[in-house]
Amino acid sequence: MDKEKNSFEIAKEQLSEVVDLMDLNPAAQEILMNPLRTLQVQIPVKMDDGETKVFTGFRVQHNDARGPTKGGIRFHPDETLDTIKALAMWMTWKCSIADIPYGGAKGGIICNPKEMSDSELERMSRNYIRMIYKFIGPEKDIPAPDVYTNPQTMGWMMDEYSKLKDVQQPGIITGKPTEIGGSLGRNDATARGGMFVLREAAKYRNLDLKKAKVAIQGYGNAGQFAHKLIRDYFGSEIVAVSDSSGAIYKEEGLDHEKLSEWKQETGSVLGFSDSKKMAEGVAEANEELLTSDVDLLVPAAIENVITEKNAEDVKAEIILELANGPTTPKADEILYEKESFVIPDFLANAGGVTVSYFEWVQNNYGYYWDLKTVHERLEEKMKTAFKSMIAEYEENDVNPRTAAYLTSVQKVSKAMKLRGWY
Ligand code: GLU
Repeated sequence: MDKEKNSFEIAKEQLSEVVDLMDLNPAAQEILMNPLRTLQVQIPVKMDDGETKVFTGFRVQHNDARGPTKGGIRFHPDETLDTIKALAMWMTWKCSIADIPYGGAKGGIICNPKEMSDSELERMSRNYIRMIYKFIGPEKDIPAPDVYTNPQTMGWMMDEYSKLKDVQQPGIITGKPTEIGGSLGRNDATARGGMFVLREAAKYRNLDLKKAKVAIQGYGNAGQFAHKLIRDYFGSEIVAVSDSSGAIYKEEGLDHEKLSEWKQETGSVLGFSDSKKMAEGVAEANEELLTSDVDLLVPAAIENVITEKNAEDVKAEIILELANGPTTPKADEILYEKESFVIPDFLANAGGVTVSYFEWVQNNYGYYWDLKTVHERLEEKMKTAFKSMIAEYEENDVNPRTAAYLTSVQKVSKAMKLRGWY
Protein backbone atom coordinates (compact mmCIF):
# COMPACT_ATOMS: atom_id res chain seq x y z
CA MET A 1 0.00 0.00 0.00
CA ASP A 2 0.99 3.57 -0.74
CA LYS A 3 2.88 4.70 2.39
CA GLU A 4 1.05 8.01 2.43
CA LYS A 5 -2.12 5.98 2.74
CA ASN A 6 -1.14 3.34 5.28
CA SER A 7 -2.97 4.58 8.36
CA PHE A 8 -0.61 2.88 10.83
CA GLU A 9 2.43 4.52 9.19
CA ILE A 10 0.56 7.81 9.40
CA ALA A 11 -0.37 7.29 13.06
CA LYS A 12 3.27 6.52 13.91
CA GLU A 13 4.51 9.51 11.93
CA GLN A 14 2.11 11.81 13.79
CA LEU A 15 3.25 10.39 17.12
CA SER A 16 6.98 10.71 16.23
CA GLU A 17 6.54 14.37 15.50
CA VAL A 18 4.96 14.92 18.90
CA VAL A 19 7.44 12.89 20.93
CA ASP A 20 10.23 14.94 19.38
CA LEU A 21 8.56 18.11 20.61
CA MET A 22 7.99 16.63 24.05
CA ASP A 23 11.35 15.06 24.52
CA LEU A 24 9.65 11.88 25.74
CA ASN A 25 11.51 9.06 27.46
CA PRO A 26 12.65 6.46 24.84
CA ALA A 27 10.98 3.50 26.59
CA ALA A 28 7.70 5.38 26.80
CA GLN A 29 7.99 6.13 23.09
CA GLU A 30 8.60 2.50 22.31
CA ILE A 31 5.54 1.40 24.28
CA LEU A 32 3.32 3.95 22.54
CA MET A 33 4.52 3.23 18.99
CA ASN A 34 2.92 -0.22 18.93
CA PRO A 35 -0.16 -1.83 20.44
CA LEU A 36 0.25 -3.61 23.77
CA ARG A 37 -1.72 -6.60 22.48
CA THR A 38 -2.95 -7.82 19.09
CA LEU A 39 -5.33 -10.69 18.49
CA GLN A 40 -6.12 -12.18 15.09
CA VAL A 41 -8.85 -14.78 14.78
CA GLN A 42 -10.47 -17.05 12.19
CA ILE A 43 -14.26 -16.97 12.32
CA PRO A 44 -16.14 -19.84 10.62
CA VAL A 45 -19.72 -18.84 9.77
CA LYS A 46 -22.49 -21.03 8.32
CA MET A 47 -23.92 -19.00 5.47
CA ASP A 48 -27.60 -19.12 4.44
CA ASP A 49 -26.81 -21.49 1.56
CA GLY A 50 -25.40 -24.08 4.00
CA GLU A 51 -21.74 -23.47 3.06
CA THR A 52 -19.24 -22.39 5.73
CA LYS A 53 -17.25 -19.24 5.06
CA VAL A 54 -14.22 -18.35 7.14
CA PHE A 55 -13.71 -14.67 8.01
CA THR A 56 -10.63 -13.04 9.52
CA GLY A 57 -11.11 -10.77 12.53
CA PHE A 58 -8.93 -8.64 14.77
CA ARG A 59 -8.93 -6.97 18.16
CA VAL A 60 -6.10 -4.62 19.00
CA GLN A 61 -5.45 -2.99 22.38
CA HIS A 62 -3.09 -0.09 22.04
CA ASN A 63 -2.62 1.19 25.57
CA ASP A 64 -4.36 0.70 28.92
CA ALA A 65 -2.38 2.98 31.23
CA ARG A 66 -5.40 5.25 31.80
CA GLY A 67 -7.96 2.47 32.20
CA PRO A 68 -9.61 -0.40 30.32
CA THR A 69 -9.29 -0.13 26.55
CA LYS A 70 -12.18 1.13 24.44
CA GLY A 71 -13.00 1.29 20.77
CA GLY A 72 -15.31 0.19 17.99
CA ILE A 73 -15.62 -2.85 15.78
CA ARG A 74 -15.67 -2.39 12.00
CA PHE A 75 -17.06 -4.66 9.31
CA HIS A 76 -15.33 -3.76 6.06
CA PRO A 77 -14.09 -5.60 2.95
CA ASP A 78 -10.84 -3.55 2.91
CA GLU A 79 -10.08 -4.02 6.61
CA THR A 80 -6.41 -4.57 7.45
CA LEU A 81 -4.54 -5.18 10.67
CA ASP A 82 -2.58 -1.98 10.09
CA THR A 83 -5.76 0.09 9.83
CA ILE A 84 -7.03 -1.40 13.09
CA LYS A 85 -3.70 -0.72 14.80
CA ALA A 86 -3.85 2.92 13.71
CA LEU A 87 -7.44 3.27 14.84
CA ALA A 88 -6.64 1.66 18.21
CA MET A 89 -3.81 4.15 18.71
CA TRP A 90 -6.09 7.06 17.80
CA MET A 91 -8.61 5.77 20.38
CA THR A 92 -5.93 6.12 23.07
CA TRP A 93 -5.49 9.79 22.16
CA LYS A 94 -9.25 10.28 21.85
CA CYS A 95 -10.06 8.93 25.33
CA SER A 96 -7.18 10.95 26.75
CA ILE A 97 -8.24 14.30 25.26
CA ALA A 98 -11.89 13.66 26.20
CA ASP A 99 -10.63 12.92 29.70
CA ILE A 100 -12.48 9.64 30.07
CA PRO A 101 -10.75 6.86 32.04
CA TYR A 102 -9.95 4.54 29.14
CA GLY A 103 -7.13 3.50 26.87
CA GLY A 104 -7.56 2.76 23.16
CA ALA A 105 -8.57 -0.36 21.23
CA LYS A 106 -10.20 -1.28 17.94
CA GLY A 107 -11.53 -4.39 16.26
CA GLY A 108 -12.72 -5.46 12.88
CA ILE A 109 -13.72 -8.26 10.55
CA ILE A 110 -12.81 -8.45 6.87
CA CYS A 111 -16.23 -8.91 5.28
CA ASN A 112 -18.75 -7.17 3.07
CA PRO A 113 -21.80 -6.60 5.27
CA LYS A 114 -23.74 -5.18 2.32
CA GLU A 115 -23.74 -8.64 0.74
CA MET A 116 -24.73 -10.54 3.88
CA SER A 117 -28.18 -11.31 5.32
CA ASP A 118 -29.12 -10.32 8.87
CA SER A 119 -28.91 -13.91 10.05
CA GLU A 120 -25.43 -14.29 8.54
CA LEU A 121 -24.35 -11.06 10.22
CA GLU A 122 -25.76 -12.27 13.52
CA ARG A 123 -23.91 -15.60 13.33
CA MET A 124 -20.69 -13.83 12.37
CA SER A 125 -21.04 -11.30 15.22
CA ARG A 126 -21.69 -14.05 17.78
CA ASN A 127 -18.84 -16.21 16.53
CA TYR A 128 -16.46 -13.26 16.60
CA ILE A 129 -17.32 -12.76 20.30
CA ARG A 130 -16.71 -16.47 20.96
CA MET A 131 -13.25 -16.08 19.48
CA ILE A 132 -12.31 -12.92 21.40
CA TYR A 133 -14.32 -13.07 24.64
CA LYS A 134 -11.37 -13.96 26.85
CA PHE A 135 -9.50 -10.96 25.50
CA ILE A 136 -12.24 -8.41 26.31
CA GLY A 137 -14.40 -7.58 29.36
CA PRO A 138 -16.23 -4.70 31.05
CA GLU A 139 -13.14 -3.97 33.14
CA LYS A 140 -10.66 -4.89 30.43
CA ASP A 141 -11.65 -3.88 26.90
CA ILE A 142 -15.07 -2.56 25.88
CA PRO A 143 -16.06 -2.62 22.18
CA ALA A 144 -18.62 -0.35 20.46
CA PRO A 145 -20.00 0.34 16.96
CA ASP A 146 -17.90 1.70 14.12
CA VAL A 147 -18.02 1.51 10.31
CA TYR A 148 -20.94 -0.76 9.22
CA THR A 149 -21.81 -1.99 12.71
CA ASN A 150 -24.80 -0.64 14.64
CA PRO A 151 -26.85 -1.01 17.86
CA GLN A 152 -28.27 -4.35 16.68
CA THR A 153 -24.75 -5.73 16.18
CA MET A 154 -23.91 -4.58 19.72
CA GLY A 155 -27.07 -6.28 21.06
CA TRP A 156 -26.07 -9.66 19.57
CA MET A 157 -22.51 -9.31 20.85
CA MET A 158 -23.62 -8.37 24.37
CA ASP A 159 -26.00 -11.31 24.43
CA GLU A 160 -23.34 -13.76 23.27
CA TYR A 161 -20.85 -12.50 25.85
CA SER A 162 -23.45 -12.68 28.64
CA LYS A 163 -24.29 -16.26 27.64
CA LEU A 164 -20.65 -17.30 27.59
CA LYS A 165 -20.16 -15.82 31.04
CA ASP A 166 -23.55 -17.03 32.30
CA VAL A 167 -24.26 -13.63 33.83
CA GLN A 168 -25.84 -10.40 32.51
CA GLN A 169 -23.01 -8.16 31.33
CA PRO A 170 -24.43 -5.03 29.65
CA GLY A 171 -21.20 -3.12 30.32
CA ILE A 172 -19.22 -5.40 28.01
CA ILE A 173 -20.13 -3.30 24.99
CA THR A 174 -21.59 0.16 24.32
CA GLY A 175 -23.80 1.59 21.60
CA LYS A 176 -26.49 -0.98 22.44
CA PRO A 177 -30.19 -0.37 21.77
CA THR A 178 -31.68 1.60 24.70
CA GLU A 179 -34.07 -1.28 25.51
CA ILE A 180 -31.14 -3.49 26.51
CA GLY A 181 -28.87 -1.10 28.35
CA GLY A 182 -27.94 1.50 25.74
CA SER A 183 -27.73 5.16 26.76
CA LEU A 184 -30.06 7.84 25.54
CA GLY A 185 -28.19 10.17 23.21
CA ARG A 186 -25.65 7.61 21.95
CA ASN A 187 -27.11 7.54 18.42
CA ASP A 188 -26.20 11.13 17.50
CA ALA A 189 -23.35 11.54 20.00
CA THR A 190 -20.51 11.70 17.46
CA ALA A 191 -22.16 14.48 15.46
CA ARG A 192 -23.40 16.29 18.57
CA GLY A 193 -19.95 16.27 20.16
CA GLY A 194 -18.58 17.56 16.83
CA MET A 195 -21.11 20.34 16.88
CA PHE A 196 -19.97 21.48 20.32
CA VAL A 197 -16.32 21.70 19.29
CA LEU A 198 -17.30 23.30 16.00
CA ARG A 199 -19.10 26.05 17.91
CA GLU A 200 -15.94 26.69 19.96
CA ALA A 201 -13.72 26.64 16.85
CA ALA A 202 -16.01 29.03 14.97
CA LYS A 203 -15.91 31.46 17.91
CA TYR A 204 -12.14 31.14 17.99
CA ARG A 205 -11.86 31.83 14.26
CA ASN A 206 -14.64 34.42 14.09
CA LEU A 207 -16.55 32.40 11.54
CA ASP A 208 -20.25 33.20 11.44
CA LEU A 209 -21.81 29.74 11.22
CA LYS A 210 -25.19 31.24 10.40
CA LYS A 211 -23.85 32.36 7.04
CA ALA A 212 -21.64 29.31 6.52
CA LYS A 213 -21.93 26.94 3.58
CA VAL A 214 -21.16 23.36 4.42
CA ALA A 215 -20.11 20.20 2.54
CA ILE A 216 -20.38 16.79 4.20
CA GLN A 217 -18.53 13.76 2.88
CA GLY A 218 -20.28 10.56 3.92
CA TYR A 219 -23.96 10.18 4.70
CA GLY A 220 -23.95 7.44 7.33
CA ASN A 221 -24.71 7.92 11.02
CA ALA A 222 -22.23 10.76 11.66
CA GLY A 223 -22.85 12.56 8.36
CA GLN A 224 -26.64 12.52 8.57
CA PHE A 225 -26.77 13.71 12.16
CA ALA A 226 -24.14 16.38 11.40
CA HIS A 227 -26.40 17.66 8.62
CA LYS A 228 -29.36 17.90 10.99
CA LEU A 229 -27.56 19.36 14.00
CA ILE A 230 -25.43 21.92 12.15
CA ARG A 231 -28.47 23.11 10.22
CA ASP A 232 -30.80 23.21 13.26
CA TYR A 233 -28.41 24.76 15.78
CA PHE A 234 -26.45 27.20 13.67
CA GLY A 235 -28.67 27.76 10.64
CA SER A 236 -25.81 26.94 8.23
CA GLU A 237 -26.73 25.70 4.75
CA ILE A 238 -25.57 22.20 3.87
CA VAL A 239 -24.97 22.63 0.14
CA ALA A 240 -23.16 19.42 -0.76
CA VAL A 241 -23.17 15.83 0.48
CA SER A 242 -21.74 12.59 -0.81
CA ASP A 243 -21.88 8.87 -0.10
CA SER A 244 -20.33 5.78 -1.64
CA SER A 245 -22.39 6.25 -4.82
CA GLY A 246 -21.53 9.89 -5.61
CA ALA A 247 -22.17 13.49 -4.56
CA ILE A 248 -24.94 16.08 -4.91
CA TYR A 249 -25.10 19.87 -4.67
CA LYS A 250 -27.78 22.45 -4.05
CA GLU A 251 -26.88 26.11 -3.73
CA GLU A 252 -29.92 26.96 -1.50
CA GLY A 253 -29.17 24.09 0.89
CA LEU A 254 -30.34 20.48 1.16
CA ASP A 255 -33.26 19.49 3.37
CA HIS A 256 -32.12 17.02 6.02
CA GLU A 257 -35.34 15.17 6.64
CA LYS A 258 -36.25 14.65 3.01
CA LEU A 259 -32.72 13.69 2.04
CA SER A 260 -32.49 11.14 4.88
CA GLU A 261 -35.79 9.63 3.77
CA TRP A 262 -34.56 9.53 0.18
CA LYS A 263 -31.32 7.84 1.22
CA GLN A 264 -33.29 5.35 3.32
CA GLU A 265 -35.59 4.49 0.41
CA THR A 266 -33.10 4.41 -2.46
CA GLY A 267 -29.85 3.57 -0.64
CA SER A 268 -28.10 6.59 -2.14
CA VAL A 269 -28.10 10.40 -2.08
CA LEU A 270 -28.04 10.55 -5.89
CA GLY A 271 -31.15 11.74 -7.69
CA PHE A 272 -32.49 13.64 -4.68
CA SER A 273 -35.13 16.25 -5.44
CA ASP A 274 -33.81 19.20 -7.45
CA SER A 275 -30.17 18.76 -6.41
CA LYS A 276 -27.41 18.77 -9.02
CA LYS A 277 -25.25 15.70 -9.42
CA MET A 278 -21.56 16.48 -8.93
CA ALA A 279 -18.87 14.94 -11.20
CA GLU A 280 -19.42 11.52 -12.84
CA GLY A 281 -17.59 8.70 -11.07
CA VAL A 282 -17.47 8.24 -7.31
CA ALA A 283 -13.83 9.30 -6.89
CA GLU A 284 -14.27 12.38 -9.07
CA ALA A 285 -17.47 13.39 -7.28
CA ASN A 286 -15.76 13.09 -3.90
CA GLU A 287 -12.83 15.21 -5.10
CA GLU A 288 -15.26 17.86 -6.29
CA LEU A 289 -17.06 17.83 -2.95
CA LEU A 290 -13.89 18.10 -0.88
CA THR A 291 -12.66 21.08 -2.90
CA SER A 292 -16.03 22.82 -3.32
CA ASP A 293 -16.52 26.45 -2.39
CA VAL A 294 -17.69 26.10 1.22
CA ASP A 295 -16.74 27.57 4.61
CA LEU A 296 -16.96 24.31 6.51
CA LEU A 297 -15.97 20.85 5.32
CA VAL A 298 -17.03 17.78 7.28
CA PRO A 299 -15.28 14.56 6.25
CA ALA A 300 -17.51 11.92 7.85
CA ALA A 301 -16.63 8.80 5.89
CA ILE A 302 -13.27 7.01 5.74
CA GLU A 303 -9.51 7.47 6.09
CA ASN A 304 -7.09 9.31 3.79
CA VAL A 305 -9.38 11.41 1.66
CA ILE A 306 -7.64 14.79 2.05
CA THR A 307 -4.17 14.19 0.66
CA GLU A 308 -1.27 16.19 -0.79
CA LYS A 309 -3.04 15.92 -4.15
CA ASN A 310 -6.17 17.88 -3.21
CA ALA A 311 -5.29 19.77 0.02
CA GLU A 312 -4.16 22.86 -1.91
CA ASP A 313 -7.61 23.08 -3.50
CA VAL A 314 -9.60 22.71 -0.27
CA LYS A 315 -11.39 26.03 0.25
CA ALA A 316 -13.05 25.53 3.62
CA GLU A 317 -11.86 27.68 6.51
CA ILE A 318 -12.75 25.03 9.09
CA ILE A 319 -12.51 21.27 8.63
CA LEU A 320 -14.40 19.19 11.17
CA GLU A 321 -13.04 15.64 11.00
CA LEU A 322 -15.90 13.39 12.06
CA ALA A 323 -14.25 10.43 10.30
CA ASN A 324 -11.16 8.81 11.75
CA GLY A 325 -7.96 9.67 9.87
CA PRO A 326 -9.36 11.58 6.86
CA THR A 327 -6.28 13.82 6.44
CA THR A 328 -2.75 12.63 5.63
CA PRO A 329 0.27 14.34 7.29
CA LYS A 330 1.34 16.06 4.05
CA ALA A 331 -2.16 17.42 3.57
CA ASP A 332 -2.09 18.62 7.19
CA GLU A 333 1.03 20.70 6.45
CA ILE A 334 -0.55 22.23 3.37
CA LEU A 335 -3.76 23.09 5.21
CA TYR A 336 -1.81 24.66 8.07
CA GLU A 337 0.14 26.87 5.64
CA LYS A 338 -3.13 27.93 4.04
CA GLU A 339 -4.47 28.76 7.50
CA SER A 340 -7.38 26.34 7.29
CA PHE A 341 -8.33 25.26 10.80
CA VAL A 342 -8.53 21.48 11.08
CA ILE A 343 -10.41 20.19 14.14
CA PRO A 344 -8.57 16.87 14.40
CA ASP A 345 -10.49 13.59 14.31
CA PHE A 346 -9.75 12.36 17.79
CA LEU A 347 -11.08 15.62 19.21
CA ALA A 348 -13.85 16.29 16.67
CA ASN A 349 -15.42 12.83 16.91
CA ALA A 350 -14.79 12.12 20.60
CA GLY A 351 -18.50 12.61 21.36
CA GLY A 352 -19.23 8.99 20.39
CA VAL A 353 -16.86 7.42 22.85
CA THR A 354 -17.78 9.99 25.50
CA VAL A 355 -21.42 8.92 25.48
CA SER A 356 -20.21 5.30 25.30
CA TYR A 357 -18.42 6.02 28.55
CA PHE A 358 -21.67 7.44 29.99
CA GLU A 359 -23.42 4.24 28.87
CA TRP A 360 -20.84 2.07 30.62
CA VAL A 361 -21.12 4.14 33.81
CA GLN A 362 -24.92 3.75 33.73
CA ASN A 363 -24.57 -0.02 33.11
CA ASN A 364 -22.15 -0.35 35.99
CA TYR A 365 -24.39 1.26 38.55
CA GLY A 366 -27.67 0.22 36.96
CA TYR A 367 -29.25 3.65 37.01
CA TYR A 368 -30.08 5.50 33.81
CA TRP A 369 -29.89 9.21 32.98
CA ASP A 370 -32.35 11.36 31.05
CA LEU A 371 -31.40 12.84 27.68
CA LYS A 372 -30.86 16.33 29.05
CA THR A 373 -28.26 15.05 31.50
CA VAL A 374 -26.43 13.17 28.73
CA HIS A 375 -26.37 16.28 26.50
CA GLU A 376 -25.20 18.58 29.29
CA ARG A 377 -22.40 16.26 30.34
CA LEU A 378 -21.33 15.72 26.75
CA GLU A 379 -21.20 19.46 26.13
CA GLU A 380 -19.06 19.96 29.22
CA LYS A 381 -16.60 17.25 28.18
CA MET A 382 -16.28 18.54 24.63
CA LYS A 383 -15.77 22.15 25.69
CA THR A 384 -13.07 21.13 28.14
CA ALA A 385 -11.37 18.98 25.49
CA PHE A 386 -11.36 21.85 23.01
CA LYS A 387 -9.90 24.21 25.62
CA SER A 388 -7.10 21.78 26.44
CA MET A 389 -6.17 21.59 22.74
CA ILE A 390 -6.26 25.38 22.30
CA ALA A 391 -3.96 25.84 25.33
CA GLU A 392 -1.23 23.81 23.55
CA TYR A 393 -2.02 25.44 20.21
CA GLU A 394 -1.41 28.90 21.62
CA GLU A 395 1.70 27.90 23.49
CA ASN A 396 3.44 26.12 20.61
CA ASP A 397 3.80 26.96 16.94
CA VAL A 398 2.01 23.81 15.80
CA ASN A 399 -1.16 22.85 13.95
CA PRO A 400 -4.30 21.92 15.93
CA ARG A 401 -3.68 18.20 15.43
CA THR A 402 -0.21 18.36 16.94
CA ALA A 403 -1.62 20.52 19.75
CA ALA A 404 -4.25 17.87 20.48
CA TYR A 405 -1.55 15.18 20.36
CA LEU A 406 0.56 17.10 22.89
CA THR A 407 -2.36 17.18 25.33
CA SER A 408 -3.19 13.51 24.89
CA VAL A 409 0.28 12.00 24.78
CA GLN A 410 1.38 13.91 27.87
CA LYS A 411 -1.52 12.50 29.86
CA VAL A 412 -0.95 8.92 28.71
CA SER A 413 2.81 9.17 29.37
CA LYS A 414 2.16 10.52 32.83
CA ALA A 415 -0.20 7.61 33.55
CA MET A 416 2.44 5.10 32.36
CA LYS A 417 5.04 6.81 34.54
CA LEU A 418 2.75 6.75 37.61
CA ARG A 419 2.10 3.06 37.05
CA GLY A 420 5.85 2.54 36.97
CA TRP A 421 6.07 1.37 33.34
CA TYR A 422 9.19 3.42 32.75
N1 GLU B 1 -16.08 3.81 17.03
C1 GLU B 1 -16.24 5.07 17.65
C2 GLU B 1 -14.95 5.87 17.59
O1 GLU B 1 -14.14 5.68 16.72
C3 GLU B 1 -16.79 4.97 19.05
C4 GLU B 1 -16.00 4.16 20.00
C5 GLU B 1 -16.72 3.91 21.30
O2 GLU B 1 -17.84 4.36 21.45
O3 GLU B 1 -16.15 3.21 22.13
O4 GLU B 1 -14.75 6.78 18.34
